[in-house]
Amino acid sequence: MKDTATTVIERCDLLGNISEEPGLLVRPYGSQAMNEANDVVSGWMRGAGMTTRRDKIGNLIGCYEGTGDKTLIVGSHLDTVRDAGKYDGQLGVMVALACVQQLHNRGERLPFSVEVVAFADEEGLRFGTTFLGSSAYAGAFDKSRLSLKDKNGVPLSQAVRAFGGDLDALENGGHENGDLLGYCEVHIEQGPVLEQKRLPVGVVTAINGQSRVRIGFSGEAGHAGTVPMEGRRDALCAAAEFVLEIESSAKAQPEAVATVGEIKAFPGAINVIPGGAEHSLDLRHPEDAARERLRNHLEQRAGEIAASRGCEHRWQVRQETPAVPADPELSALLGRAVEDSGFPVHRLPSGAGHDAAQMAALTNVAMLFVRCKEGISHNPAESVKKEDVGVAIEVMDRFLALLAQGERSRHQSEASQEVSP
Ligand SMILES: [Zn+2]
Repeated sequence: MKDTATTVIERCDLLGNISEEPGLLVRPYGSQAMNEANDVVSGWMRGAGMTTRRDKIGNLIGCYEGTGDKTLIVGSHLDTVRDAGKYDGQLGVMVALACVQQLHNRGERLPFSVEVVAFADEEGLRFGTTFLGSSAYAGAFDKSRLSLKDKNGVPLSQAVRAFGGDLDALENGGHENGDLLGYCEVHIEQGPVLEQKRLPVGVVTAINGQSRVRIGFSGEAGHAGTVPMEGRRDALCAAAEFVLEIESSAKAQPEAVATVGEIKAFPGAINVIPGGAEHSLDLRHPEDAARERLRNHLEQRAGEIAASRGCEHRWQVRQETPAVPADPELSALLGRAVEDSGFPVHRLPSGAGHDAAQMAALTNVAMLFVRCKEGISHNPAESVKKEDVGVAIEVMDRFLALLAQGERSRHQSEASQEVSP
């Protein structure tokens, strides 16, 4: 018999060929390819003993009934970026499906239902806005997004309808009945840490919060040939000094990452001293307070650097997204499941956003990262080892068993409290 990890890899290969364009993987929200992928996956879900439905925005949901009223949600997304790899999103859905398939093969019912959710939009390729699927499922959908248009001028509202969705019920959320035990997502790491640690999987501590800032420096433009070096007010030199300050400040803070990805000089000519400079800052950290401290420190340093060069600075915070901590109890169970599978537990934050961050509006969340080759993602070169996929399935299987054990003993203690006077 074929082992489960092989099936998962083969299914990721198969899904990797369901695309809007030949020769590369492109599967945006509401596309024909997304409909096809949903059909294929729902067939697999039914084969694993699940009933399937689609929610108001078109997320695909498979339900494996349990013996109790509560539900655990496991899943990830089925949409992709343009020229995507085969594992970002798809792997999480396929591992979740594989775990249910194993329960079904063993004829085992858990004391809770397991819902496998395949979100229809995480990457935001078509409408330039992320997490349409999981925000709708979590009941956190922002209706103002419905007027967003894709590159052909089709508004999101029309795309939702064409995809079989229901605009009037979008804000109601995708979960239909019963209390939730939580949401657990398996995802490729999209970074190099697990590979460096030589570990197949890691437990996510938090999805990093993020600050996006626009910084400007103004000095005085002048002739590159006639103005002596002494006394210049070169705005780009101030920006350059500050960029290096950002790098060293972030390095001094464990877990912080800071990036200047865009920079411009004005007027922008080879023979003119820059009178102005502008650059971006993307700052991320698993703890909001630490991120805010670092952001305030950098703002102060921007002012000091500007002043020391006779320049002025502008500091404009464009976006603040709070961190989403993983649930300590679910994460502890995941950690135990990793140990029971024979591996040390490595805990790490997620630098990238995930559906789990949206699902946190609805329930407790946890995530398991799977090592991926050289940390490469959003790229057809994305690659995972079959053995690592096997470990992820084993960990999730043990996680479900631990959760079931907890639920059973909770039921027992409730029942014994009811009989005792
Ligand atoms: Zn993803």
